[in-house]
Amino acid sequence: MPDRIAVVGAGISGLSVAHFLKEKKYDVTVYEKESMPGGLIRCLRIDGSLFHTCGGHVFNSKCEDVLNWFWSFFNQKEEFQKAERKSVVSMETGKMIPYPIENHVYLFDHETQKSIIRDMLSISQAGERTFESFEDFLKGRFGDTLYKLYFKPYNEKVWRRNLKQVPLLWLKDKLPMPTVEDVILNNINHIEEKQFVHSSFYYEKNDGSQFIANRLAEGLNIKYNEEIDCLSNVNGQWMLKGEYYDKIVFCGNIKQLPELIKDTDCIENYQQEISNLEYHGTTAVFCEIDKNSFSWIYQPSRKHDSHRIICTGNFAISNNGISVPTERITATIEFTDEISKEDILKNLERIPFHPQYITHQYNRYTYPIQDDNTRNIIKGLKNELAKRNFFFTGRFADWEYYNMDAAIKAAMNTLETIENKA
Ligand SMILES: Cc1cc2nc3c(=O)[nH]c(=O)nc-3n(C[C@H](O)[C@H](O)[C@H](O)COP(=O)(O)OP(=O)(O)OC[C@H]3O[C@@H](n4cnc5c(N)ncnc54)[C@H](O)[C@@H]3O)c2cc1C
Repeated sequence: MPDRIAVVGAGISGLSVAHFLKEKKYDVTVYEKESMPGGLIRCLRIDGSLFHTCGGHVFNSKCEDVLNWFWSFFNQKEEFQKAERKSVVSMETGKMIPYPIENHVYLFDHETQKSIIRDMLSISQAGERTFESFEDFLKGRFGDTLYKLYFKPYNEKVWRRNLKQVPLLWLKDKLPMPTVEDVILNNINHIEEKQFVHSSFYYEKNDGSQFIANRLAEGLNIKYNEEIDCLSNVNGQWMLKGEYYDKIVFCGNIKQLPELIKDTDCIENYQQEISNLEYHGTTAVFCEIDKNSFSWIYQPSRKHDSHRIICTGNFAISNNGISVPTERITATIEFTDEISKEDILKNLERIPFHPQYITHQYNRYTYPIQDDNTRNIIKGLKNELAKRNFFFTGRFADWEYYNMDAAIKAAMNTLETIENKA
């Protein structure tokens, strides 16, 4: 008899790990508290238009085994289209500067250019150094002028805190680390940034990232509308919803673990540290906006609280329902944490591209915040629980800033851990 394994959560992590386990002939059941798969990548149709209820998800990866596995589920040519990322920073002056801003210094007025050149010279003279805080990093890498014009106001909106208090750990592989030489070279040659995972990306012709979730859910045994609120360990087996399992793979939120597996002694040692883990939420506002050619619009302006417009209406024609006029597209406008409908409407009046409100959704957990100790806590707990045949993986299980592809890769690694233990 193959081991019975319960996977908690049908987001991209739960769906991936369930397939990996199924391929290894385990008997897998997935429990999902919502009525559909997807988690953070969930999309809904509103009057025919596609609402990414949390952001606007696009797919790509630099990891060969993730790409091979992912594309084995889809017909890339028929079901997806490839797009080049076209992102801009919408400056206070109304000017649109392509992203990343440091590659487009030549588009600023001469005084600003001179000031940035002076910054670059002093960064170069200072030589290699280590950074104490996020503020320190941004100033030290990009200089005071770009910091004041863009990095500070934009990041203060995203992080809603003094940038001195933003930990540096999450930065690795997330932000470009250009040298002064890179910046000058890119400006002289008008070079676009190609290092980002999403500098080109794939997008579904229909139904956005929900298409991915729906396809990956096919062929799996998923029980929807089943919230797991108790997991008991009985004689070495796990019991949930009256069923016994040999192993659990938890792909929900680690903050739920202490109440979920109360009777497992080792979790007590981690309770305080888990409760201290910090995070942000996002209010995703679905709107109609003026037609434009951009993918993402970053908004440092202090006139309103939103930091980013994701022009999802540009990702696929089918994302705009028939009620959307030809000179308009749909988009998601993002605000960090929760914001009331009244405040959303006031903000929309001050945001460019004449946004018109359709609906919104607040997602409490969207960005995990790591500090220097987070990875140690997670590693310690993983090892302890693995001894009890309890495994976990996912953005909020691992408290990692995973994109979809990194979540798939982490699920692959989880399979390896399970197999090595078997
Ligand atoms: C604003 C934003 C934009 C993003 N854009 C991109 C992008 O463009 N490209 C990209 O690759 N990545 C992007 N990401 C990252 C991407 O969303 C995540 O990597 C991915 O969705 C994480 O999937 P997950 O399965 O780990 O977690 P989740 O999607 O959170 O899934 C967890 C699932 O578990 C379920 N669950 C939780 N607890 C229980 C329980 N007790 N019982 C039953 N079910 C439970 C939840 O309902 C949910 O379905 C973005 C993230 C954000 C926040």
